Amino acid sequence: MKRDISTLSNGNFDAVIIGGGIHGAVIAYELAVAGYKTAIIDKNDFTAATSANSLKIIHGGIRYLQDFDIQRMRESIYSRSYFLTKAPHLVKTLPCIMSVQKHSSIKPFMYRVALVLNDVVSWDRNQGVTKDKMIPRSQFLETSKVAKLLPKIDANNISGAIFWHDAVALDSERLVLYFIQKAVSNGAVAANYVKAQEINTPQNRVRGITARCQFSGKTFDILTKMVINCTGPWLFDFLHLHPSGRQSKPNYALALNLVVEPLLSDSYAVGIEGQGGYRKDGSLMKKEKRLFFFMPWHGKTMIGTYYRKYHGNVSDFSIGRDDINAFVSNIHDVYPSANITAQKICFYHAGLVPIRQIDDRSNSSFTLKKHTKIIDHERKGGPKGIISIDSTKYTTAAVTAKKLLKYLSKKNKHIAPSGMKGVPTETRYSASNKAIDLLNHLPLKMDEIRRFIRQEMAFTLSDVIFRRTNLGALENLSDNLLQSLAQSMGQELGWNETKIVHEVEAVKQYFLPLKVLRETHDDSGKKNG
Ligand SMILES: Cc1cc2nc3c(=O)[nH]c(=O)nc-3n(C[C@H](O)[C@H](O)[C@H](O)COP(=O)(O)OP(=O)(O)OC[C@H]3O[C@@H](n4cnc5c(N)ncnc54)[C@H](O)[C@@H]3O)c2cc1C
Repeated sequence: MKRDISTLSNGNFDAVIIGGGIHGAVIAYELAVAGYKTAIIDKNDFTAATSANSLKIIHGGIRYLQDFDIQRMRESIYSRSYFLTKAPHLVKTLPCIMSVQKHSSIKPFMYRVALVLNDVVSWDRNQGVTKDKMIPRSQFLETSKVAKLLPKIDANNISGAIFWHDAVALDSERLVLYFIQKAVSNGAVAANYVKAQEINTPQNRVRGITARCQFSGKTFDILTKMVINCTGPWLFDFLHLHPSGRQSKPNYALALNLVVEPLLSDSYAVGIEGQGGYRKDGSLMKKEKRLFFFMPWHGKTMIGTYYRKYHGNVSDFSIGRDDINAFVSNIHDVYPSANITAQKICFYHAGLVPIRQIDDRSNSSFTLKKHTKIIDHERKGGPKGIISIDSTKYTTAAVTAKKLLKYLSKKNKHIAPSGMKGVPTETRYSASNKAIDLLNHLPLKMDEIRRFIRQEMAFTLSDVIFRRTNLGALENLSDNLLQSLAQSMGQELGWNETKIVHEVEAVKQYFLPLKVLRETHDDSGKKNG
């Protein structure tokens, strides 16, 4: 997979996808397979935004039972099976346990009924799935069993637990790359670090976009009949590139996960529910609840998810020490013995997720948007050929791609696939578990670094540290290690000393909130001053 700007600028595409997160990647793959001449670009590295920051759970929708949202459940079940079958080497089943608090107004028998319903609604969940990836039936566990499986949980406060399986993409970044690689194997053209600047719509119909190479600063046109806007939280900003595509500005919440030293269980994702949290509008359970998942992740525990209303511009988004502190305090509310100190926090994942404001007077009165939408702007009086994906979950990418293909096949002939199917070759650089294997061979070997650069479009040190491997999240990155990795990349990419310093600084910048946190806490994790 090579970054080929001249093929982009000389091509004439059926569809150009803007945004290489999970939605752009899966849609690019499905369109390419269906015979659309497809291109996909990202203004940054592929999967450098929200899709890298997910809690990695591919939801089967059991939680949507509380809203009795069967459609959403069915869509999640489809998506879970899709990922388990299309990328079995990157997606595995995830056993989950959620304890039921004694004070809960929902009694164990109600959970038992709900679990039977969950199995009925997901009756076809294992169709096409290999035996080792099958999702078993869900169960209600008695307190004594929970105490055995999770000895660190205080069994005195619970009346049992629900036990079910979901799926997990432990390397969600690799999964995105994998779909982009597969799209390319099926004839798509892909380029990271290419920003869409303008949508060109003579006669009220898309004719192409003007794009900018983020390295050279040069602009060029890409001809296309259709633009698919998969820009995640930039959806609204992107539509500003075209005046008639405007729509009302969405609200976002900052979402945050923490990666900490191992806690609770290395085999199960454990959900712990507490009082207080975010009111679920339209839920059958009107009570405010807070639920955190403690997920085993590459020998650590990932805890998620904390939300707070976000007020700034999407591109200015960053997190600070206060967000981390607030989250840690929330975790201690639901699980006091977690005893998370600044030193135990290894990494964080943060991004923006769309919300619906319920009460304008309260910052905490919002609900996460539920349904991913496909918006055809022609139907809103905009030009022909602009389609936006208003995404809500990583999981929804699969079902959204399916719905989009169905929609396009019914739509005007002028955006029918041109039949320019590429040569369906094997994906040579299959994602495998390389990112994990690499950790056993530190520092990275030069031929692996070369492979990331030559075959996987890695251009910056951050690309390698955060998205081609998991080094950023799992290793204690010393200055020396960063320096030597940057020098190795520099050999291949012709970096001078100034560029090497810049690349190392860019990686360190990411760790700034954790550095500040550690500096303001003493060794016992207590706040200084
Ligand atoms: C902390 C957290 C935990 C989460 N946990 C889960 C979970 O467990 N399960 C789940 O299903 N979902 C989860 N989600 C939600 C999920 O991560 C997102 O819904 C999903 O990743 C969005 O994917 P996307 O492809 O739409 O957007 P993104 O991944 O944000 O991709 C959009 C891309 O568009 C690019 N772009 C923007 N503007 C331009 C332009 N002008 N030109 C070119 N490119 C452009 C950006 O650079 C970016 O790469 C979580 C989210 C967060 C933040």
